[in-house]
Amino acid sequence: MNMARNISNPTSGFPEKSDLLRLPFLDLAADYLEMSTEIDAAVARVLHSGWFILGNEVAGFEADFAAYCGVNHAVGVASGTDALLLALRALDIGAGDEVITVAHTAVATVTAIELSGATPVFVDVEPATGTLDATLLPAAINRRTRAIIPVHLYGHPADLEPILTVARQHGRIALVEDCAQAHGATYHGRPVGSWGDVAAFSFYPTKNLGALGDGGAIVTNDGAVAERLRALRQYGWHERYISQVAGFNSRLDELQAAVLRVKLRRLDERNGARRRLAALYNEQLTGSSLLLPSEWPGSRHVYHLYAVQSRQRDRLQEFLKSSGIGTAVHYPVPVHLQPAYRRLGHQAGSLPVTERLAQQLLSLPLYPQLQPAQIETICDCIMAFEKQTGQI
Ligand SMILES: *Cc1c(COP(=O)(O)O)cnc(C)c1O
Repeated sequence: MNMARNISNPTSGFPEKSDLLRLPFLDLAADYLEMSTEIDAAVARVLHSGWFILGNEVAGFEADFAAYCGVNHAVGVASGTDALLLALRALDIGAGDEVITVAHTAVATVTAIELSGATPVFVDVEPATGTLDATLLPAAINRRTRAIIPVHLYGHPADLEPILTVARQHGRIALVEDCAQAHGATYHGRPVGSWGDVAAFSFYPTKNLGALGDGGAIVTNDGAVAERLRALRQYGWHERYISQVAGFNSRLDELQAAVLRVKLRRLDERNGARRRLAALYNEQLTGSSLLLPSEWPGSRHVYHLYAVQSRQRDRLQEFLKSSGIGTAVHYPVPVHLQPAYRRLGHQAGSLPVTERLAQQLLSLPLYPQLQPAQIETICDCIMAFEKQTGQI
């Protein structure tokens, strides 16, 4: 198969049309096409304005996004990683400090902690949701602990109340929410991002609110923190050419902000579509041996990903692939066991739930344009695999 491809098109690594998956894991072009008129108009408006960095579009988007999250301030930056990094720096967290988070996350959570100069400390996750297990916090806290970063994984909020309780008992420990996968999710009826001292969002194209390139934002109710963030994202300037603090260059550009304003207006509708498709998956897979995603009562999961747990994960993924269905694993190797982070001193077995999830989780296709009939096809295929392997 590969040989045939190389012979038919020796100069390109791209697959021939016939090799393309029938049901891809993601379809970002479909996402653009659905809003192309408004997006094209927004892009043209920026091009004609002649203003490309930190202008009216960014200010407009920041106001819209703060209101959407139910907070006073939003500050646009260049990526989700930078949003976390600047959030920590704005809280004056850096060298000599420890920040508690999970190893079952996108590596960027940990990248950001290390870029700030602080040391990441990992705790294990809850088996049902894969989010930070608050009961493990007390044993991980010491006098150097300055922040806790729970990750609202796959669109599902971490259990914030017990985490906040522990943080407040210790006084100077900040809560920094990693909301990169959870735009529009709520916990006890209130938006994620409004619970922490600060919260970081990513607008990487695949996220529920995705730009046409990189982007991110920090939200907070604290005006002084917001002001520090605005300086930090642009060379530490409070006024032009005078750096009050040592800053960064991490700006959201006008084109991305203009596109994000269009997409933000449709976010609730699209999260609703994700939730309906997830409910259909749940219904169709009820008789299977898979462990399906769960939701806290009173929370709103926005299904950035629809991830199931299977004891035969690799075989199931292979079976679906051979049937033309794309899937993905989030994440195959937990951060504490990745080559770059071995130096932090964790051994295999130190985070047992995290490590088991890395072997069992499989993300199925889920995006707003997916048709119910396509979900039925995927579920039929999964049930056929389960029968064939004697699991049901
Ligand atoms: C995507 C993501 C990030 C990083 O966002 P970038 O915009 O890619 O830098 C951080 N944390 C989590 C949980 C993510 O999924």
